[in-house]
Amino acid sequence: MRGFLRTSVIATAALAAALAAFLILTLPPPAVALDGRVPGTFAPGAYHIHTVRSDGTGTVDEIAAAAARAGLRFLVFTDHGDGTRSPDPPAYRHGVLCLDAVEISTMDGHLVALGLPAPAPYPLAGRARDVMADVHRMGGTAVAAHPDSPKPDLRWQAQGAAYDGIEWINADSEWRDETPVDLAAAGLRALVRPAESIATLFARPGRTLRRWDTAARSRPVFGLAAVDAHARISWREDEEPRRRTTLARPSYESMFETLVQTVVLDTALSGEAGEDGARVLGALTSGRSFSIVRALAWPASLEFSASGGDRTVQMGHRLAEVDVPPAGLRFDAAVPQAPGARLTLWRDGVQIATGQGDLSHRATGRQSGVYRIEVSFPGGLVPWIVSNPIVVGDVPGPGGGPGGAPQPDPSEWYEVSVDTRWDIEKDPSSSGSQVSEGDEVSLEYALGPGVPSGQYAALVAPVEAPAGVDRVSFVGRADRPTRLAVQVRLAGQQEGRRWRHSVYLDSAARPITIRLQEFEPAEGSTSQRPVVAPLQSLLFVLDTVNTAPGTGGRVWLSNVRLGVDRLEE
Ligand SMILES: [Zn+2]
Ligand SMILES: [Zn+2]
Repeated sequence: MRGFLRTSVIATAALAAALAAFLILTLPPPAVALDGRVPGTFAPGAYHIHTVRSDGTGTVDEIAAAAARAGLRFLVFTDHGDGTRSPDPPAYRHGVLCLDAVEISTMDGHLVALGLPAPAPYPLAGRARDVMADVHRMGGTAVAAHPDSPKPDLRWQAQGAAYDGIEWINADSEWRDETPVDLAAAGLRALVRPAESIATLFARPGRTLRRWDTAARSRPVFGLAAVDAHARISWREDEEPRRRTTLARPSYESMFETLVQTVVLDTALSGEAGEDGARVLGALTSGRSFSIVRALAWPASLEFSASGGDRTVQMGHRLAEVDVPPAGLRFDAAVPQAPGARLTLWRDGVQIATGQGDLSHRATGRQSGVYRIEVSFPGGLVPWIVSNPIVVGDVPGPGGGPGGAPQPDPSEWYEVSVDTRWDIEKDPSSSGSQVSEGDEVSLEYALGPGVPSGQYAALVAPVEAPAGVDRVSFVGRADRPTRLAVQVRLAGQQEGRRWRHSVYLDSAARPITIRLQEFEPAEGSTSQRPVVAPLQSLLFVLDTVNTAPGTGGRVWLSNVRLGVDRLEE
């Protein structure tokens, strides 16, 4: 017995020694300290940070102190929310510019709204397309967060939703596809070399970079590296704020020493928070910034420009094809602090030139395309530096897409008279009443208080159209900014099933037409869409998707019609 005990103690000790030796031998090399100077017009910062206000473990102040220790100049906080919290104004804390943003969970993935000047008038939620429209109307910018997350329900699903920016890498997503053994080993190595060990979990996200390149061809799309720092370990997002006693690793400071987004400014930051906030946000959202995996080497700056004739443009710019001189464009890039680094120029996702320390390439033949620089550093599985693109090509104007072009009238209309027998449907805690006045029908509603738990109020019209329709049309207004869910119940085969499409209303009466194929199932999901179908009823619904419990208001509708385009017999 004693012999057995001694044997197992020796075996355990030997195993521990072997493990320690393995971890020491496989420690990633320390970040290379570069000695070149980085001018003050390059301001490094971190984007996508959670605090105790959502599922992070640090306060804004503690996190700013960590960023100051890590040498950062700005932070972009992105606590989970629906946009109804008043955004904090830009402020300097511990010498670090703190900018407030919000990460919104849409039905199609997470979306970061940057630069919202005021709280949203109602909860921002629902389809990504609608949330983006709301963010744009409020003057903000929408970023598709972790679009290719290994977790399917965190992935970006919105087809054709035109986000303004994209996270080309998200540190929180990068470790989710590792094996538990690799994660545990990285966790142990992180006790010795935190940032470097986190960076060993990064790989070049080819799919997301292709997504970005494709999107940037048709519209300006800026890219950001997201630390997605929570300083806690969890497999789930969107859970309740954690108690601060949870394992607070990796620390905010380690994350800030891993991945950095550097903005390129005309002059150094002034120290005046409001002005600096606008400049940093402007640089991020117009693509005048680049990402650095700082755990490989630091500090560094990237210069990237295209010139032709007497004109030179920097990253973030778009050049129309007519502005390209006959001799073509020359692309120049350099990382002055790292003469050994390898630079690659990509056009539309294809490598077209490389250089060591710097790069110069004259484009011949076709000039149009999305041009980006990636810089690799020995030992990195992920690009060390990734630029924003310079885009050459004809920039499409605004318009197009759903709601862009006016729709021609259909061949038949069915009026839904305001004198129709409108019904009120609601849950027991909410109230609703209907009034017909002149050519308008209105719904006065108040949703029941408390947490969202199915509160709703709806104005419902039975539909007597004899055959199928392909669109719903009406003029709507509201006493306050409101997102109204227009719903239909189909008759026949899918009896009672509701389809939904939300629209924005405010005090200005606006005509709205929704094609049946734009409706989405109100419950569950299916890729099928009705095109022409007989309706059982038409509903105008205020529910907790976009109306806060305990709030109320009034909406007015007129000229409610159902239309259909029949093929000539
Ligand atoms: Zn997220
Ligand atoms: Zn996040």
